[in-house]
Amino acid sequence: MPIPDKMLAVTVEGGKKAITVDRPRSPEPGEVLIRVERVGICGTDLEMFEGYTDFRGIIGHEFAGTVVEADLYSWIRRRVTASINLPDGALGTIDEDAAKHTPNRKALGIRGMDGAMADYVLLPEGLLVSLPDSVSWAEGAMAEPLAAAMNAVEQLPPGENPVLLVGDGKLAQLIARVYLSQGGELHVVGRSDAKLTMLEKAGAKVLDGAAKAGEYHRVIEATGSAVGMQSALAATAPQGTVVCKSTIAGSTELDLSRLVVDEITLRGSRCGSVKQAVEAIASGRNRVEDLVSDVFPLRDANKAFKRAVEPDALKVQLSPHGA
Ligand SMILES: [Zn+2]
Repeated sequence: MPIPDKMLAVTVEGGKKAITVDRPRSPEPGEVLIRVERVGICGTDLEMFEGYTDFRGIIGHEFAGTVVEADLYSWIRRRVTASINLPDGALGTIDEDAAKHTPNRKALGIRGMDGAMADYVLLPEGLLVSLPDSVSWAEGAMAEPLAAAMNAVEQLPPGENPVLLVGDGKLAQLIARVYLSQGGELHVVGRSDAKLTMLEKAGAKVLDGAAKAGEYHRVIEATGSAVGMQSALAATAPQGTVVCKSTIAGSTELDLSRLVVDEITLRGSRCGSVKQAVEAIASGRNRVEDLVSDVFPLRDANKAFKRAVEPDALKVQLSPHGA
């Protein structure tokens, strides 16, 4: 299929978003050009519109697509998604775990490299993760957020005590599924009755109202809000651990005295292994497709962003070519 000389792309600059017309670049050696079939809207994208980073360029880091140009023939027509952290000057295969904390790294659509919220995306081969035919485009574009959920659970794996999950949004739903698929006991607090019902159906115990103060030794915060962070801290027992999943724009007022007085450990959690997430989807271990609540054409990206912040929305995806 010929590559058109124009493409739509969603860009951000100085916290301002725009839908622009750009030109797909041809791959240099070691790069591939991918036709984007699905790309998800992440909380991080929305935070970038609020100035979460000073990134300028095309956003989007949760995608699935088809390789249409590459200097290595073996990639052509392959269905792929990608791991998102690129160490500075990296060539060849990239170790996902090591990559996420290398200094001067780039991150797809977040830091130093254009993302996939566009008709096409250009990527170094080393980031590519193949998608088996059994994995749909919608599922492929959910691999990166599932990987992030898997990383949070890795930090607080199922043990003797239940884990408290604060939040009921799309990331919380993914975390719950991963946690419960590993046989853990999970208690949840959230704000939406419908979303809490989904979590209950998945096997979590939904608490009525707030969690009791200081009740939980292990807490995962996945609300995307400063208020959620405060409730997570309030529910944590002395010497307990809170894993924090939310990226919150700007600086946040947080009462840190409990951290000191009650010796609470606060751990951040960012990306996980996209390769392992694809395996988890392909094997049927973690269902993700039903968490996609809406799909919009790329040209309607502004409508999609509005939809993504509505209380009953889960994952909103864009479909640049109608797939
Ligand atoms: Zn994301």
